[in-house]
Amino acid sequence: MSNEIDIKSYPNGIFGATTYLIYDKKTLEAAIIDCTCSTESIEQEIKNKKLNLKYILITHGHFDHVYCVKKMKEKFPSALVFMHKDDLPLLKQVEVQCSMAGVDGIETPCVDGLLDEKTQNLKLGENDIKIIHTKGHSKGGICYLIKDTLFSGDTLFCESIGRCDLFGGSFSEIEQSIKQKLFKLDENITVYPGHGEKTTIEHEKKYNPYFGSNY
Ligand SMILES: [Zn+2]
Ligand SMILES: [Zn+2]
Repeated sequence: MSNEIDIKSYPNGIFGATTYLIYDKKTLEAAIIDCTCSTESIEQEIKNKKLNLKYILITHGHFDHVYCVKKMKEKFPSALVFMHKDDLPLLKQVEVQCSMAGVDGIETPCVDGLLDEKTQNLKLGENDIKIIHTKGHSKGGICYLIKDTLFSGDTLFCESIGRCDLFGGSFSEIEQSIKQKLFKLDENITVYPGHGEKTTIEHEKKYNPYFGSNY
């Protein structure tokens, strides 16, 4: 049994990163996927809809995806902040990342728990949230799969992929992660990336220029 999930996108974050607010329509349990833009409009939505924010789920430890995690956690202290352990070193350096990019005002978030592909019982209402470890853009990058919806962070974009020239990045790893894991998923799955327009697994198999006729 699973229920309908509602998804709201906030694409106006640092470096154009998107924050997603998702919730189970039956139980009103909610999660935020990455938290990069100012928190007011999301807070308002949570209050208006009377949502119970259970989780702040981080796809990876780059500053543009965690910029507002600490502020959001202060507003919703019972929401648990989760990420993959292999990106903890990146998270600890978010202030350095920011200063290299000429961005100020970040506060390093604290993490309440670590996720990997063995994680079970991460749920929104009756819906399982599945963890897919997709290293390549960073060592600890993860995608979150909920029903027929994938939050792909900076691993897979609409007709593009995440860059691999940053700390911990590797082209062969991201290629393997996408081919061996994401492209094995149901083609009807909608992909909500960390930057830019949503897409589907089917569309990316056909049109993503990094894979082309390999698929
Ligand atoms: Zn990134
Ligand atoms: Zn990014």
